[in-house]
Amino acid sequence: MIGIYLHIPFCRQACTYCDFFFTTRGGLKPAFLKSLTREISSYRDSEWSSVPVLSVYFGGGTPSRLTGDEFTSLLDALGAVFNLNQAVEITVEVNPDDLTPDYLRQLKQAGVNRLSVGIQTFSPERLRFMNRAHTREHALQCLRMIREEGFHSWTADLIYGNPGQTTDALAEDIETLLDFDPPHISAYALTIEPHTRLGSMVRKKLVEPADDELVAEHTDLLVNMLAGAGVERYEVSNFARPGHEAVHNSAYWSHQNYLGLGPGAHSFSWKPDEVHAKRWSNKPHLPEYMEKSPNPHEKEDLTIDQLATERLMMGLRTSEGLTVVELEQRYRYSFSSAQQVKILKFREEKLLNYDGASIRLTGMGMLVADRITLEIISS
Ligand code: SF4
Repeated sequence: MIGIYLHIPFCRQACTYCDFFFTTRGGLKPAFLKSLTREISSYRDSEWSSVPVLSVYFGGGTPSRLTGDEFTSLLDALGAVFNLNQAVEITVEVNPDDLTPDYLRQLKQAGVNRLSVGIQTFSPERLRFMNRAHTREHALQCLRMIREEGFHSWTADLIYGNPGQTTDALAEDIETLLDFDPPHISAYALTIEPHTRLGSMVRKKLVEPADDELVAEHTDLLVNMLAGAGVERYEVSNFARPGHEAVHNSAYWSHQNYLGLGPGAHSFSWKPDEVHAKRWSNKPHLPEYMEKSPNPHEKEDLTIDQLATERLMMGLRTSEGLTVVELEQRYRYSFSSAQQVKILKFREEKLLNYDGASIRLTGMGMLVADRITLEIISS
């Protein structure tokens, strides 16, 4: 089964920290939608069109800049080309300032069954600092609407480790969100990307990034408060109540094939029994995309060794971990003696569980997942 990702690049305004591909030129929407529909149609009768689709994900940008009718048209176009009969998850990323009860009903009618809400924080001061388009009131209102409209599956994004954000302020954000019984939460430590407004503010020393110790304290608080509410960490940045783990993202982590549509979208294809896979992406350039979609520009051939390394990195970020059988059979990979020594050392330090058949990080190990993975891979 495959996943389909659609990149909708429109945003109301630019957030200070954002490094995604987006534009604030909403006037380009009609031409963009035409190109996206053309790209969808280009896969008619292709090897992608006969495989059942497991999940569809509208990301961005801000997909909720599209109207309900526009989603209906896009999902109709997808349904005319791909096999959506078994699609269990159709997610749309939404921003709080775009939602109304009517809009939520339209999304539902179009076939959307999961929302990903960009809350980030409830603090008016932090929202202004991040230049988010929504206010605290928008965030609260939209969560009330989602509850009232009976969306059972949704996730909220939170950002922590913000410059100047205290641990108490984060606790308040988490408590406020938990009041709405979220089935799923994605929480990210703010990263300062060089080519963003925030990056330039840091370079000019107008803003001081949160120090590593504080970020670690924030992570601890988050994990403990969410676990206390029954929302368990199942991946370094993702938390869910049982049964609400994201289908689409989980497919990325386990190397299932996915097709990315829209400017900047990535695709991945690995045929059974082949010892290499392909990854490619459309150019993140809207005028060029509108002129000649699809326009793949970066293509990468991945060897089985590269795939094994990726799988280790992604698998060790999940609470499920991975099995030795999977590594051996699908990736033709087994741990070297040096790696075994390293793994046993981490096990002694209670950073991971390993019984010779499966390997997974402990809660403590998750806090330093990147370091552990790198040390195992490079041994
Ligand atoms: S809404 Fe999302 S994609 Fe748009 S500018 Fe803000 S962070 Fe970036």
